[in-house]
Amino acid sequence: MTTQEQEAGERRWAPTYRAHCPRCRQSGRAFSSYGNAEDAARGHAGKHNHTTHVVDQYGIRVVGSTQRPGDDLASH
Ligand SMILES: [Zn+2]
Repeated sequence: MTTQEQEAGERRWAPTYRAHCPRCRQSGRAFSSYGNAEDAARGHAGKHNHTTHVVDQYGIRVVGSTQRPGDDLASH
């Protein structure tokens, strides 16, 4: 694949983000906004007590997106 083709591919596919739970081995719905996916991950972490994170459209974990149960009140 040439560099030109890679750039065209990136333009065609807008980035999407989804919450992913390794414990459930499930990903949530795709969001175009990272913040929405992070909210979904945080919601799952709180509801199910699972550590979750956000993945991009390639299924790659977004650095710093990890949501741990109970993190809401912790400020480090
Ligand atoms: Zn889960």
